[in-house]
Amino acid sequence: MSDNTNLAEMLKVAVAEARKGLAEGGIPIGAAMFATDGQLLSSGHNRRVQDGDPSAHGETDAFRRAGRQRSYREITLVTTLAPCWYCSGLIRQFGFRTVIVGESRTFSGGLDWLRESGVHIVDLDSSECVEMMTEYIAQNPEVWNEDIGHD
Ligand SMILES: [Zn+2]
Repeated sequence: MSDNTNLAEMLKVAVAEARKGLAEGGIPIGAAMFATDGQLLSSGHNRRVQDGDPSAHGETDAFRRAGRQRSYREITLVTTLAPCWYCSGLIRQFGFRTVIVGESRTFSGGLDWLRESGVHIVDLDSSECVEMMTEYIAQNPEVWNEDIGHD
């Protein structure tokens, strides 16, 4: 498999989580964590609506489901949407060095800050991810603004 195929396969896992969240009536944002050998460690999705939990973002859900890890330096975090400030803080706090992002057109979050901090960001600019978020935001603007902390 080429690197690009790998990245697309990794993103697929996060997209499947996002679609699961959407089917549950939630915000379609999914994430996954992979070891260097490509092994899937965990995956998760935003659960704000489903669980009434504002701290359950796609990234944090995958992070918690991976359990304790000694180090995050070699673990790749994949997320369908650019991480918000809260998740960007998590990425820096635990020392992730590589983050694969499905898209950053609808929301760019802390991407520039992460890049400046030396985190390797791969933005796949996936049209599937853009469409998924654009449709959701158009239909549920109030839930989306709540999720990103906009009044
Ligand atoms: Zn977040």
